[in-house]
Amino acid sequence: MARLSRRSFLKTAAAGAVAAPLVRTQPSPDVVVVGAGAFGGWTALHLREMGHAVTLVDAYGPGNGRAASGGETRQIRVGYGDQEIYSRWAIRALGKWKAREQEFGERLLFRTGRLQLASGWTEELRATAQVFEKLGVESEVIPHDELGKRYPQMRPEGIEFALFEPGAGVLRARFSMQVVAEWFGKKGGTFRIARAEPPTGTGSTLDRILLAGGGSLSAGAYVFACGPWLPKVFPELLGRKIFTPRRDTFFFGAPSGDDRFNYPNLPNFDDTGYYGFPNIDSRGFKLCPMGERVAFDPDLDERVHNAYLLTRARAFLARRFPDLEHQPLLESRVCQTEMSVDENFIVQKHPQWDNVWIAGGGSGHGFKHGPVVGEYVARRVSGEDEEPELEAVFRIKPEAFAESTFSGERRY
Ligand SMILES: Cc1cc2nc3c(=O)[nH]c(=O)nc-3n(C[C@H](O)[C@H](O)[C@H](O)COP(=O)(O)OP(=O)(O)OC[C@H]3O[C@@H](n4cnc5c(N)ncnc54)[C@H](O)[C@@H]3O)c2cc1C
Repeated sequence: MARLSRRSFLKTAAAGAVAAPLVRTQPSPDVVVVGAGAFGGWTALHLREMGHAVTLVDAYGPGNGRAASGGETRQIRVGYGDQEIYSRWAIRALGKWKAREQEFGERLLFRTGRLQLASGWTEELRATAQVFEKLGVESEVIPHDELGKRYPQMRPEGIEFALFEPGAGVLRARFSMQVVAEWFGKKGGTFRIARAEPPTGTGSTLDRILLAGGGSLSAGAYVFACGPWLPKVFPELLGRKIFTPRRDTFFFGAPSGDDRFNYPNLPNFDDTGYYGFPNIDSRGFKLCPMGERVAFDPDLDERVHNAYLLTRARAFLARRFPDLEHQPLLESRVCQTEMSVDENFIVQKHPQWDNVWIAGGGSGHGFKHGPVVGEYVARRVSGEDEEPELEAVFRIKPEAFAESTFSGERRY
């Protein structure tokens, strides 16, 4: 595999050209990727597969319990309203997840299908159906009566129909990130647990990053894929551009001996204010109430579920899945999303340092795209961008959130 010296790496990336392979002259890596979640983990793997010497650093580990990628499961679906770019990426991502399952020899994906439950056609649903048709995505409109027959474990009260996407699925989230990091290592990448301090320096090129507790790392380029931590790493640039609301997720037990709520007997579902998945890996039926706007600190806040949200979840069960209403809560998870102002991903160079890249802003929908994001970021960092039209979509926007996620009073 081709390896680039630090100087030639920078030159190549800046020129946007593919360089001839050169012999590395320094022990330092070509690229340091900070953050081993869906964005950083896949980016590091792709950079490594392109032949670069890569060090991947994470403060807590791949798919850790604080990371946005650290949940049990994440959904993959193509339906995205009129946001066709993400539908196209999701189609590509599905293919890549399947290919990686083969390569890694691990099950990462469950094809569950997804029901978008609707009380009428909204603009978003119409746009989803149109994009499905345009891109040749299999889908079906299931009317109320048919829904009741096909899924008797679900009460379709108030639902006119469901837009069904049979190809949608559920990904094993934290497990996948551990597997990606493992394969990054098998392919010659270097992983270490360390916390990168927010970068400082007055020049136009960043020389090194300091690690909390001592030491530093020096490379040709740096990718900060720190998910919900990005506002802490770049407080001036991103403090008001990424907001990190908490998301409480509940896993309920099913009655004993009852497999109606297990994969593959029930698809994922999206309802007004809620979504959920069938029981996968025997963790329980997953239900997530949406709409919370309480900022959450990924380092410091306790991951104890909110009692009010559990009440909301049970009220939903009573309405939609009555046989689960009195079943026990098996587990709850509290995570935080990393919302950008327009819910688009952020991939761009830092305005000050020409060798520093920011990749994040997954905005509650980034996990599924990990393999595509990783390839995209790796190409941009290497100066081989094949989709220049996306630069504007993924740029930090001028709008800002009214309040910042972190007041600056709390230290980590
Ligand atoms: C409850 C919930 C449900 C979701 N559901 C879905 C879904 O169904 N489908 C979907 O596609 N997406 C979903 N998402 C969104 C998706 O999970 C995220 O967009 C995605 O995982 C973000 O990945 P990331 O790599 O940017 O961030 P993270 O996974 O948070 O990774 C960032 C990493 O950076 C590390 N780090 C941070 N700062 C430093 C530092 N200074 N030094 C070293 N390491 C550092 C952290 O330890 C962490 O591991 C959901 C998110 C949540 C919270």
